[in-house]
Amino acid sequence: MQLLFLGTGAGMPSKQRNTTSTVLKLLEERGTFWMFDCGEATQHQILHTTLKPRKLEKLFITHLHGDHIYGLPGLLGSRSFLGGDEPLTIYGPTGLKNWIDVTLAVSKTHVKYPLTIIEIEEGIVFEDEQFIVEAKLLEHVMPCYGYSVKQKALAPELYIEKTDALGVPRGPLLRQLKEGNDVVLSNGTIVKSEEVTGEVREGFKVTILGDTKYCENSIQLSEKADIVVHEGTFDIETAELARLYGHSTIVDAAEVCQNADAKNLVVNHISARFLSSDLSNMLTQVKHYPFPIYISEDLAEYSFVNGLLTKCK
Ligand SMILES: [Zn+2]
Ligand SMILES: [Zn+2]
Repeated sequence: MQLLFLGTGAGMPSKQRNTTSTVLKLLEERGTFWMFDCGEATQHQILHTTLKPRKLEKLFITHLHGDHIYGLPGLLGSRSFLGGDEPLTIYGPTGLKNWIDVTLAVSKTHVKYPLTIIEIEEGIVFEDEQFIVEAKLLEHVMPCYGYSVKQKALAPELYIEKTDALGVPRGPLLRQLKEGNDVVLSNGTIVKSEEVTGEVREGFKVTILGDTKYCENSIQLSEKADIVVHEGTFDIETAELARLYGHSTIVDAAEVCQNADAKNLVVNHISARFLSSDLSNMLTQVKHYPFPIYISEDLAEYSFVNGLLTKCK
């Protein structure tokens, strides 16, 4: 799994940062990627990556402010134009479906793939055998959701040299053993699953929050998450503006992670008032927190392997 930040700015694009869009790359897990928010010119940002729009499987919108959705119509049209014919599902707040339907209709944009738009409420918004996605309302100046993505436990490793030694034939019995079931061989020998498999491997949990003040639901969604992506529009010195506009400081973001017992924090949605040279000052304000904290940049990519988050681009 990798997290790729297409846009990390707040409100308007700047030369340093485009408006918000975050990608959860699940190419190894399911051959697709999921996107969280789609600010204007997100498709231009994609051009600087190896992402193929046809592999976009799910798009989660936190709220309907322009810096989170104005890139949608263009991306939806291009995905069709580029030959994407796999289904795409978009999740987001009430009003999203109407806006997309009208925009596509008046611009005569006909997408050639099955497009489903689901206006969500709090709770589980998606679940399959691999993943479960939960949404909760945050505290912004309009309804705004945060999402947690939990990967379900992975089947334990099957030690094939052990099953061979015990005489288990290659075939369906191996699958039974891998799934935790004991099997009986044709000669009457019982082979226990635990004898031939490793530990059940925990899946990862990533929480991607939208625009918000510090709030309890952010903490609940981030509970024991491996990675939390939290906005940090402002810093300590501009905390008053954060309160005024329903946003957070980088310290609020760190407090959420601390109280949720989360393992890594990546801060996005940075106000254009902060230049690259200001970022080390922002990081100093949170240096006493006992977990890694990153301020994301556009096109930065983070890889999560064996429980460790590393910045790879
Ligand atoms: Zn915003
Ligand atoms: Zn907003």
